[in-house]
Amino acid sequence: MRVNGDYVWVRVVSRTLALGAAMALAGAVGFGQGRAPKKVTVLVGGTLIDGYGGRPIRNAVVVVEGEKIAAVGQVGQLAVPAGAEVISTEGMTVLPGLWDMHVHLMINGHSDYPHWDKTYPPLFENVIMPASAKQLLLAGVTSARDLGAPLKDSISVRDRINKGIIPGPTMYMSGPFIQHRPYPGTELFRWGVEGTEDARAKVRKLADARVDVVKLIDQDQMTLEEVKAVVDEAHKHGLPVVAHSHRPEEIRKGIVAGVDCFEHTGLSSAPEYPADIVQMIRERSADMSRGPLWWTPTIEGLFNYEYLRDNPEQLDDPAWQEGLPPEVVADIRQSIAHPDRLSYFQLTPQRRPTLRRKFEQLREAGVVMLVGTDSGIPMKFHSSSTWRELDAWVNILGVDAMTAIRGATYWPSVAMKVDDKVGTIEPGKFADIIAVKGDVLRHIALLQRVDIVVKHGVRYR
Ligand SMILES: [Zn+2]
Repeated sequence: MRVNGDYVWVRVVSRTLALGAAMALAGAVGFGQGRAPKKVTVLVGGTLIDGYGGRPIRNAVVVVEGEKIAAVGQVGQLAVPAGAEVISTEGMTVLPGLWDMHVHLMINGHSDYPHWDKTYPPLFENVIMPASAKQLLLAGVTSARDLGAPLKDSISVRDRINKGIIPGPTMYMSGPFIQHRPYPGTELFRWGVEGTEDARAKVRKLADARVDVVKLIDQDQMTLEEVKAVVDEAHKHGLPVVAHSHRPEEIRKGIVAGVDCFEHTGLSSAPEYPADIVQMIRERSADMSRGPLWWTPTIEGLFNYEYLRDNPEQLDDPAWQEGLPPEVVADIRQSIAHPDRLSYFQLTPQRRPTLRRKFEQLREAGVVMLVGTDSGIPMKFHSSSTWRELDAWVNILGVDAMTAIRGATYWPSVAMKVDDKVGTIEPGKFADIIAVKGDVLRHIALLQRVDIVVKHGVRYR
């Protein structure tokens, strides 16, 4: 392990040691404080997918200077700067760090929400959410959008990650859900709205706390005027609005009100989206001046439930236990000891055959799909959600691997309006880079075991 100026590049075998060291050094040294020249590190030899969708670049050279990418080229054409540390990526695919556009840091796969919401809020800010963030980062997720958690905890976790105090992806936080009425016992992270003035006031409170996005749920139970007030006030503050879309009227009201991004592949076991909704989506997609309509299908868990129920070995994977106290792990484990008995999933086998049709309807209607997972819901762990979603798109739904990867790299950065900073591998962007042995365009599931994770120039794996 070496430290030069403000740049830290950690090369250690143990994952825990690497993280601890990266945390300590990033925290102690800070970014941009050092006067010494920035350390230069070069990834040499791998096949580069830059995020733009074109042909991958063989024998790639990626020069990282401090937090940023300084140059991208090929062996023999772009020289390795003298004195640079060289990391071989021979035999690997090198690609932008992944995004997960739908995570819940405050939950870790426990099957009993009322119990979790009663028991663990005191641990959210300093134990649970940091553990989830660390697990995502180790899985190659360098940016993530959290859609529903207590306000103070959300901002605190995001800001500590950004300061380098704790490890995690760059987080985009919604804070509490905005909805008609919070379910009893969930008031900490669900805010009800009563009338348009209240709707605007709640959104202003979120904006004042510096959230990155507003999350709507159950908007079918709100008046259209209330939904419009939420969206309008959010947009006035430059905040995108993301909406739950499990029920037809959630989609209709959301589209009319101007929601930017919808979540889930919904409508339960119904065979398809109704024609009027498809027509609304088509018209919205066609309106170029408003940019793409984003959609995060969070579809993997619905396809894989029956497999998981019958082959539950992955529930024993220590990767999802990283950073969690043993008592919490034990509690989660007992709650999912009988995957076949969870009421949450009883209807899933009946929903599964409808998913392909709905996914195709959405794509055909022109939405831009984003990779997101609902990571943290029952049996769905931050250590493995994201690659499983990519795998489902490619190997179950037939999406080509490059399109799927762009749904987890380039497009999310556009959706969150940070495509000038991240989402692709090119000079001037933050060095959010992962590398994995083998060809991920041929075998997308290789992403389940990333070899190198670099976020803002710091190596975590
Ligand atoms: Zn969710």
